[in-house]
Formats: sequence, C-alpha cells, structure tokens
Amino acid sequence: MPFDFSPYRAALLDLDGTLAHDDHALPGAAALVRRLQAMGLIVGVISNSGAGPLRTQMRLHGMAIDIDAANIFTAAAHTAEHILRHFSRDALARRPRVFNLSTHAVHDMLNDQVDWVQTGGEPCDVVTVASPTSQHYSPDRARVALQLARAGAAIVGLCADRLFPSRRGMEFGSGAATQMLAYAAGVTPTFCGKPQPEFFTDFCKHLGVDTNECVLIGDNLEADIAGGMNVGMTAVLTLTGVSRRKDIILTPEHRRPAAVVDDLTQL
Ligand SMILES: [Mg+2]
Repeated sequence: MPFDFSPYRAALLDLDGTLAHDDHALPGAAALVRRLQAMGLIVGVISNSGAGPLRTQMRLHGMAIDIDAANIFTAAAHTAEHILRHFSRDALARRPRVFNLSTHAVHDMLNDQVDWVQTGGEPCDVVTVASPTSQHYSPDRARVALQLARAGAAIVGLCADRLFPSRRGMEFGSGAATQMLAYAAGVTPTFCGKPQPEFFTDFCKHLGVDTNECVLIGDNLEADIAGGMNVGMTAVLTLTGVSRRKDIILTPEHRRPAAVVDDLTQL
C-alpha cells in the first residue's frame, strides 16, 4: 500500500542515497517530488553536504528535480547561520573572526558578514571544519586551525558524519576531521547538520511548518530517521543508501521508522 502523505504539510527528503546517487536521480525520485508538489505539500531537501543551497538546487535541476534553493537546507548553510547566531555582531560588538577549514559554500555565505582569520597568530572566535577533501582544508591550514583552537577559538564541525562515500571509497567525514582537531586542541566541538535537533527545527522555521507536520524520507537511520524522530517528525527509511534492512532489527522498536521501502517507487 502506498504511504499516505495527506496528513502532512511538508515532506523533507534527504539528498544523497535518497533522491540521488552522484549525479543520477534514484528510481522514483523525480516522480515522487512532482507528486508531492502537486498534492500541495511543501517539499524540502536536506543534506549534510558542504555545498550551499543554490549549488544543490542546480545539481537537482540537472536530474530533472526542481526545488527552490529556499527549500534546501545543507550542513554548510546551517553552519553559516549557526556562526552568525552564536558569534553575533551584536554580542561581540564587532564582526565575528572566523577561520575556514571547510568549504567554498561556507566562505561565500559568510563572506561579507565576518572577518576571515588567515594565520595562527591572529585573534579568532571560531574555526569551521569539514572533510579533508574540502576546498579550504589542507594540512597547512589544519595546523593553523590547531594553533587557533589551542589559543581559545571554538570549533564548529559542519556535521558529525564519520565518513562519506566517494568514487575512491570511504573518505574521512566532517565529523572525523572535526574530532581530530578537537582532540589535538583539547576543545569540545559543536556540530551542525543532521542529526542535530537545531538543523531540523531551524529548517522548519524557514519553511513555516511545525516539526510534527513533517514526514522525513531518508536513507540513514542515525542522521535522518533518529534525527527527525527526535524532533517529532514521522520518518520513512529508503534502502537505497547507507542503512540496510538488518540495521532496523538492531534499532529499538520505538526508534524505528513508520515505513521502510526498497526505493522511492514504492511510495
Ligand atoms: Mg543520505
């Protein structure tokens, strides 16, 4: 029986492993998005990607999935908002001083609102960290970040992901890179992205919906399903990405998704 979307005002779909794999839409993805939009649901896309909403909109468009950037929330976008809220100009009485050990998108979203730190000897409020494959990450820059964190800068990871798959195999995720820096500096880091409750509640505020009016569809029991359920969303697991059917058995009954599908065509 197809899933009944009629009780919900919004559907939040994870990107990688749910809607898409690399630059290919997964089976049923484009059709499901069109059907939900035709039903009048607000369709949002969530991702722990270090890219920004605009670039993600273009990537989806290339797969015949049309979602406005305002309805896309990524770990990079959440990080930019987090920095501006927690290191606000008002509270500091100046622009926040930031060292970027993360992505182009974080740079672009913060560029006219922060002062960029370039060297280890400068005063710095916060260091942003993403995967070592990110554009602004290098061994030399990681060394500068270590110096800054040891001197008192806070550490904010784009997300807590341990790994992510690439064409070369598994890569160190933003979470792993953040923990390495935090461990060396002896600092407790903060994480943005899924499954942090603020990621979901902030996005719902942007969309103008309550968390309990949302159904979330994702491929990851930890980042998507647990994250969404923690803030009161209904969750649906698709087996096209990270989590396998056997992983559900290891999940306590009250933490299991409302439905499990082999792919999005079953919805
Ligand atoms: Mg995913």
